[in-house]
Amino acid sequence: SGPVGKAERFSDAATPETGRLTTLPDVQETVDKIRAAKKSRVQLPYYVEHQSVAAATTTIAGEEFLSFSSYNYLGLAGHPHVVAAVHAAVDTYGTSCSAARILSGNRPIHNELERSIASLVGAEDSVVLVGGHGTNASIIPLLYGNSDVVFHDALSHDSIHQGIKASGAVRHSFPHNDIDQLDRALAARRKHFRRALIVTEGIFSMDGDLADLPAIVRVARKHGAHIMVDEAHSIGVLGATGGGICEELGVDPSEIDILMGTLSKSMASCGGYIAGGAPFIQHLRYSLSSLVFSAAITPANTAAALAAIEQLRSEPERLHRLRENSLHFVEGARARGLNIGNACGVPVVPVILGDSDAAIGVANTLYRQRISVNPIIYPAVSNDLARLRFFLTSEHTIQQLDRALDLTSEAVHGIARAA
Ligand code: PMP
Repeated sequence: SGPVGKAERFSDAATPETGRLTTLPDVQETVDKIRAAKKSRVQLPYYVEHQSVAAATTTIAGEEFLSFSSYNYLGLAGHPHVVAAVHAAVDTYGTSCSAARILSGNRPIHNELERSIASLVGAEDSVVLVGGHGTNASIIPLLYGNSDVVFHDALSHDSIHQGIKASGAVRHSFPHNDIDQLDRALAARRKHFRRALIVTEGIFSMDGDLADLPAIVRVARKHGAHIMVDEAHSIGVLGATGGGICEELGVDPSEIDILMGTLSKSMASCGGYIAGGAPFIQHLRYSLSSLVFSAAITPANTAAALAAIEQLRSEPERLHRLRENSLHFVEGARARGLNIGNACGVPVVPVILGDSDAAIGVANTLYRQRISVNPIIYPAVSNDLARLRFFLTSEHTIQQLDRALDLTSEAVHGIARAA
């Protein structure tokens, strides 16, 4: 009676929904919320049309805005050398590789990019995929399953959650950067599982702070656990040469089992990578489903990332400017009495308002003053942690940063006075 019995039990628990997708309550709820927001005076901050490259400034509805809402950290998405490299790649290889690389083959720029990323992060080899989110969502289920346990920082990105969920591994969230808690959790649980993985991030994209990677390495080796670091926001940003968190904190990159990153931020492109030991990367080339069964990253995206890394090497002053801007913004925000939580001088800076309506209100006020910055509200964070999140680039001028800080401070303190 196997499958039939199961189906019967299933229908006991659920009420059948027989309507079409457009009538589902969750679909209707979204439609209603957007309709209500459009009727109010609130400018919806989502899916705004930008008509230019978003760097220090962006164009919205024909007007120039100061931009703090994209991750173009090194200002390279639109750099003439990067754009020229993309044109050349499209001229040579066309717009698509038209199949997965395992069968239709690599282009020389795929091999060059994978070598270049490996050398940037200090790993033996790397492999590149079409998307950063998909990279996390597919690498964890490849290596971990229901005999395994994954420990992750409480502030982990959605893509990490999706990967863990798909893997079927037992999930344990440890409080943000609380490595003593992680150590205790591993001591209690490690023996019950085949493999253990610890996942953290180079720069946390909500709080703009760094993982305590040296402590994580010590704890991982003590308990026989693997380490995965998501460097989406730290590659090309941290370290003397932009090599990421290992370079910044003096950690030997070979201690990190899975060095993951995205091409969509400092690297002016779109895609994800995994770097690590050569045999491990070789294994991925033959087993990672999102590589083996998915079309190759396009020539354009490959060439953009490759050219961005070359530009990072030939123009290290971009990295210095990014650092100076980040420090200036953090110091300026604190001096104006803004709550920036743990922000530590990297180009992600939250301004915590503690209320979702206030975050939307301040973002709207700034929008009217032609400053584009994203509000992060419940349920992305709890209501008491609702915030604006500023992404800085090497290309912002000090005057632009000061203008944004002055107007933000005026709007935030205005709300506080009115309350
Ligand atoms: N990891 C982190 C920490 C991220 O912030 C993001 C996206 N912002 C991703 C992974 C997904 O990368 P991508 O947008 O390149 O798909």
